[in-house]
Amino acid sequence: MEKSNDQSRMDRIVSLAKRRGFIFQSSEIYGGLNGFWDYGPLGVALKRNLKDAWWHDMVAGHDELAAPAGAPEAYEMAGLDCTIIMHPQVWKCSGHFDLFHDWMIDCRESKRRYRYDHLSGRFALHRGKRVFVVTDASGDEAQPALTAKAQKFFGLRAKQIEEIEWDGGLTGLSAAVAAGATTLAEVLGPDASEPGTLTDPREFNLMFETRIGALAGDDDDRAFLRPETAQGIFMNFKNVLDTSRVRVPFGIAQIGKSFRNEITPRNFTFRSREFEQMEIEFFCKPGDSAAWYRYWRDRRWKWYLDLGLTEGKLQLREHDKDELSHYSVGTADIEYAFPFLAPGEFGELEGIAHRGDFDLRSHMEGKLVRQDGALVLEMGPDGKPRHKGSGKDLSYFDDITRERYVPHVIEPSAGADRAVLAFLCDAYHEDEVPDEDGKPRSRTVLKLHPRLAPLKAAILPLVKKDGMPEVAIDLYRALKRHMPCMYDEKGSVGRRYARQDEAGTPWCLTVDGQTLTDQTVTLRDRDSLVQTRVPIAEVVDLLTDRL
Ligand code: ATP
Repeated sequence: MEKSNDQSRMDRIVSLAKRRGFIFQSSEIYGGLNGFWDYGPLGVALKRNLKDAWWHDMVAGHDELAAPAGAPEAYEMAGLDCTIIMHPQVWKCSGHFDLFHDWMIDCRESKRRYRYDHLSGRFALHRGKRVFVVTDASGDEAQPALTAKAQKFFGLRAKQIEEIEWDGGLTGLSAAVAAGATTLAEVLGPDASEPGTLTDPREFNLMFETRIGALAGDDDDRAFLRPETAQGIFMNFKNVLDTSRVRVPFGIAQIGKSFRNEITPRNFTFRSREFEQMEIEFFCKPGDSAAWYRYWRDRRWKWYLDLGLTEGKLQLREHDKDELSHYSVGTADIEYAFPFLAPGEFGELEGIAHRGDFDLRSHMEGKLVRQDGALVLEMGPDGKPRHKGSGKDLSYFDDITRERYVPHVIEPSAGADRAVLAFLCDAYHEDEVPDEDGKPRSRTVLKLHPRLAPLKAAILPLVKKDGMPEVAIDLYRALKRHMPCMYDEKGSVGRRYARQDEAGTPWCLTVDGQTLTDQTVTLRDRDSLVQTRVPIAEVVDLLTDRL
């Protein structure tokens, strides 16, 4: 199958990520583990820089004395680091235990498993035979996959492909079955040789289960790896309120690992089974929550732009009413046009949700459901609450206005791994630069924002003699105290520039013959390729300023 330009670009990004030590498949020497990824030396630095930028911009660097642009008023931010395993009741009241599932479907012939909502297909006809051909490929890979499948099923040669008639457009399998357009008995699965091998769809809870304690055995020992970091924040809402001087409105932020047993992890790190989230739960007065929702949505959108993501590849998408979770008053996704998606398609980087008082009330009262527009306690068949809450009072008392209320929550929830992937894809460029002899040479360059770049500078002696290494090493040691940088004397200077371009290093400092006479070095800019001479004594200040 011919690959689209964007798909082969994606392949080159994945290959660079591996070749240069950004991202490796987990447990690779044993054949890898699907949906799990390790970050190598450059990758861990990139991811750490991204998380540090988020923590700094949202928490540590936040000025709580002034209202930021667009904010209804000044507010405080606090940080938190909670456990991955929590009391099982947390997930019962949050709704994850009952509702956090996807529909999966198995193929009895190929033994492959698919997400029901990831399958789509069309009716194919040939000489009186009719079959609903299905694929799990998406975007512009879907139709070629269907054609190849139908060709094989009808036993046609390549030149007979035109004889296949297609009835109807590409439709999601679940929609086609729900509408009665087809039944699973006449569906030809993506990896099957005959129709009717797909099982009925089954619910599959995405939470990873574990057991607590050496004698674990009965149901009471069941515990779960958190599928989101948010719940740990709700668990500590009262603790933070009681132990720090925060007043509503305020936010609690957390960065940490989350786990989801995704049925079909795919698209590199985009859909992983273990990943990191950067989440804020922002607590505000119910009447002000719509204004805060707008503030956070715009603030988070701007954050990605400020760190250099291309605006034309980003999309802010407000959810339709029927797409909203049962508790949500409004949700917007910040999405990026990843190269593995078809033109016009976007993948979620972050969701900003107006969650009302759903979370705090659930943990007070028990699992809630929406009935006639209101949130009410869900009852079990025995007439008792389906999942009992903590019974603890999580309301807030405003001692100035003497009001008591359950705060509303705005939740900007971002994925660190998806953001790293978006910044990698966005930064990846192939262009041509003149080599030492002035001839054009193609290069691969990661145009990462200097805040995100794993290394900020490389110090290169032009040659390994004439006292140049000594000067370069001194400069390296002076700069290293202020920022991550490296010293490299191996290979031609052109090759060394190329290595730094691929790693996304914004600046190269070259010590050459002139350095020895006038104490200046060449500062080469990764993106503009402009080279300027800078006195060695000014290098540290200059680069610190630029950062
Ligand atoms: P999707 O619809 O893509 O599965 P979601 O809507 O379930 O995502 P949320 O529950 O809103 O995602 O999680 C918040 C953020 O966590 C997402 O925007 C994403 O950046 C990240 N995230 C969620 N699931 C994964 C995953 N399987 N792998 C990597 N990141 C993820």
